[in-house]
Amino acid sequence: MTTKITEQKMLLGGEWVGREQTLDVVNPEDQSVISTVPMASSDDAREAVRIAVEGKEIAEALSVRERMDILNKVADYVLDHAQEFAKTIALEGSKTIAEASGEARRTAETIRLGAEEARRLSGESINFDQMEGNTNRMGYYYHFPVGVVAAITPFNDPLNLVAHKVAPAIAAGNAVIVKPATETPLSALKLAEAFIAAGLPKKVLTVITGRGRDIGDILVEAEDVQMISFTGGYETGKSIAHKAGLKKLSMELGSNSPFIIWKDADIEKAAQSGVDGAFGAAGQNCLSVQRVYAHEEIYDAFEASFVDKAKQVRAGKKMDKDSDIGPVINEKEAKRIESWIEEAVDAGAKVLAGGKRHGAFIEPTVLSNVPENLTIVKEEVFGPVVILASVATFDEAVTRSNGVPFGLQAGIYTNDINLALKAVRKLHVGGVMVNDSSDFRIDAMPFGGVKHSGIGREGVAFAIEEMSEKRLVCFTIDE
Ligand code: NAP
Repeated sequence: MTTKITEQKMLLGGEWVGREQTLDVVNPEDQSVISTVPMASSDDAREAVRIAVEGKEIAEALSVRERMDILNKVADYVLDHAQEFAKTIALEGSKTIAEASGEARRTAETIRLGAEEARRLSGESINFDQMEGNTNRMGYYYHFPVGVVAAITPFNDPLNLVAHKVAPAIAAGNAVIVKPATETPLSALKLAEAFIAAGLPKKVLTVITGRGRDIGDILVEAEDVQMISFTGGYETGKSIAHKAGLKKLSMELGSNSPFIIWKDADIEKAAQSGVDGAFGAAGQNCLSVQRVYAHEEIYDAFEASFVDKAKQVRAGKKMDKDSDIGPVINEKEAKRIESWIEEAVDAGAKVLAGGKRHGAFIEPTVLSNVPENLTIVKEEVFGPVVILASVATFDEAVTRSNGVPFGLQAGIYTNDINLALKAVRKLHVGGVMVNDSSDFRIDAMPFGGVKHSGIGREGVAFAIEEMSEKRLVCFTIDE
């Protein structure tokens, strides 16, 4: 399939602008250049902040009804143009067209949630008279916007994760500067087109394209930015947190999620759920299944079923409707994943399926006998690789699940309600899925992690709360 190279502009406070210096947007499948975007300079980043300072007054002045109307129109626009959005996601990123279509539909849902939750952002009255001497006081608190939100987003869900920041920011009455991943800026720019078409006033939204390492510090350190909403890797998140100073932070970071299969589980269902969770989006989901701990009594049967299902996952061309998964985001990442597999094999791991790299493609890979201290166990693979291990006791499963720096989501398959409840208590994560893998999310649920997986929660209503401040009002009655 040949694709025309387009010269895409960036949205600087309501104006589409180009720059002499550009960045190539590359299709990871064949390294073809599909588009160029402006390479924003430090001055552009400063200008984005300056414009957003004006934009926050405009955003705050929008009535809740106006915010809802704009967000509903954007949701309609995304649905009306769902195929174009899906094609953009699939071409610039690593999702197949089927996966990308799912993301486009979910994005409309995320934006719609923004409209619905905007009307619910309210406060409550306070009983001041609970403290002696305050019977003559009455009051309440309400929410007001934080001001300027800098939204820094990753490549793996290039549309919906942008929506997860822009929709709540606008619902809460903020101005927002989006800095999308350099690999996948086109989906974010396309979403900006939807906001312009829906009548969002100029200066409320900027989408600035440029390398994080060049313009990131300006956005992160700016005194005029009140909140950083970041989704991406742990190292980037940690460095941003160090530099941000006194601002609100929302950090949606990575993980290497565990999935426990107990001896009473339905093996076929659990295996299918694990395979889907490990290989969907070529394993490039923050909540992908990376470590599977199956009870020793059913381990062999589970392993056989899992490997059989894994071998049926078809890695192929992204635009082919029959492909289950595409490549990883670039060849450099594929080589990194390959080296982690090789390190595991050198340390005695068995390759039960896959294991090979072809350009930016990694075969759906299943490993067993992997020593616990290896990078591929402790760190986030972010690729289609999963590790199977046998455990003797529930405590062992929990200890090994928790024995990593991350804690985003976990899954457990069991029909034993007491065991499930124990898992909910003992697993150090932001979410526990019972009779599903870690790889489950709806856009309305509180989503986020503990430890190196992040700070705060997204999920539209929760993000709106994080992007707002409470203002208390107290009246003293002269009696
Ligand atoms: P990344 O390398 O950390 O990049 C994320 C974003 O940060 C990109 O826009 C990047 O820009 C920007 N950035 C890089 N250096 C920066 C700096 N010094 N200052 C400011 N911004 C900077 O992550 P990724 O590889 O795109 O995404 C994969 C990671 O995201 C995985 O760890 C995954 O688990 C995590 N993730 C988490 C969630 C969640 O909700 N918890 C969801 C999805 C993904 P450039 O592209 O220009 O470098």
